[in-house]
Amino acid sequence: MSNRKNIVVLGAGESGVGAAILAQKEHFEVFVSDVGTIGQEFKAILEEKKIAYEEGQHSLERILETADIVIKSPGIPDHVALIQQLKAKEIPVLDELEFASQYTNATIVGITGSNGKTTTTRLLHHILDVAGFDVGIAGNIGFSLAKQVAEKDRAYYVVEVSSFQLDNMRTFNPAIAILLNITPDHLDRYEYQLEKYIASKLRIVQNKGAEQVFIYNSDDANIQYGLEHYYNGNKAAIHEVSMRALEQEGINFRVPETDFEMPATALVLKGRHNYFNMQCAVLAAKKLGVKNPFIEKALASFVNEPHRLESVITMNELEFINDSKATNVDAVFYALEAMTKPVVWIVGGVDKGNDYTQLFDLVQKKVRAIVCLGIDNSSIQKAFADEHEIIVEVRSVEEAIKVATLYGEPGDAVLLSPACASFDLFKNYIDRGNKFKAVLMHQHKMMTEGIQVTLNINWTQNPVDGKSDS
Ligand code: ADP
Repeated sequence: MSNRKNIVVLGAGESGVGAAILAQKEHFEVFVSDVGTIGQEFKAILEEKKIAYEEGQHSLERILETADIVIKSPGIPDHVALIQQLKAKEIPVLDELEFASQYTNATIVGITGSNGKTTTTRLLHHILDVAGFDVGIAGNIGFSLAKQVAEKDRAYYVVEVSSFQLDNMRTFNPAIAILLNITPDHLDRYEYQLEKYIASKLRIVQNKGAEQVFIYNSDDANIQYGLEHYYNGNKAAIHEVSMRALEQEGINFRVPETDFEMPATALVLKGRHNYFNMQCAVLAAKKLGVKNPFIEKALASFVNEPHRLESVITMNELEFINDSKATNVDAVFYALEAMTKPVVWIVGGVDKGNDYTQLFDLVQKKVRAIVCLGIDNSSIQKAFADEHEIIVEVRSVEEAIKVATLYGEPGDAVLLSPACASFDLFKNYIDRGNKFKAVLMHQHKMMTEGIQVTLNINWTQNPVDGKSDS
């Protein structure tokens, strides 16, 4: 019997396989277990590295009898029987980020929040990269931290941290923590209690020492609540960034507490939410010693991930914008706020119990027509039927674009910003956004080849013309 410690990794995706690679390098006995089918590329890595694995099941006995430590994929909820059994046996269950952070001396920036994580993570990574830092990007964004630590450790990491990852954090202690916002999301994983979701987000600073920099959104009532209830009050460097103060933003983009400013016209990202994201990223960069010219260059050259307020094409004098990643009401709020022209708004999908009231004002001011793209649009209908003249239901991206073209007027924007998950009609938000873009590109090609695009809509039900239908 070897006296090496046993690590069992549950879930063989990017983070699980990364954790297995690091665990093997650190001389643990490793066993990877996945109840589903393991993707080919991950299986190939496990085989090449001769890491033991199983798929299609969890061998309970083997796991419960041998594991000294378990590293669990953030996709596995805490309430499943196996996790409960492990906890009952007091076997530590860690997240991959926590495990990885124990084997690097790198300076880590951890970024969490309900919205803006990916944008802010990529932004800060880009700033540090432009400034010549030896920096990696990791976490919920889709790249394993453990894998990078094992194979090519860096001096700095910018890490996107989801609340699911935070749930099992005990020792993770980023040098800089950024908490962007807390709005109700994923509550199904928190017994529908906002309080539990807030507690999870505050874990980003649970180990905060005197040195740690903490940057957070000072206008966010849920964060304030979290600070009062779950923050241990260490006297560490705290930096508040206010979304409200940004309402007065002028021709120059400034970052409070710093000497950074640059012309707003040179910024790639638009919208108050993105100004806020940029302020947080710049503040963190300044704390790490980045000089202003690098930051300016980075903010003017940043390329965001697709599906986030992505301007796709202007066709028939309508600008089509893909914001498929906006899967909650808050993200839509900032998308609509960022619009400078009248909007045909494509919304809908799987509604997670949305409260649309915070959108009423913006919709009244900016939205010309509402196109519901979903199987069950009743809650959107209910919310806006009295507010809006034109609400149309469609069941496909093709129909949505055709209807939007019909109702849009020259100079308008057509904004896909669904406020909902996508699983009724699409695989995920990426599939939804890609289909939107593909249909637009197809139409554009037909137009440039002189082929008439006819408005041949197969109505799945009668178009609902707002009030006249009720
Ligand atoms: P996350 O990784 O947290 O999901 P993203 O950067 O991918 O965040 O953005 C998700 C959605 O939220 C997009 O529609 C984007 O336009 C919007 N968004 C980005 N930053 C913010 C913010 N600070 N507040 C509210 N919404 C935001």
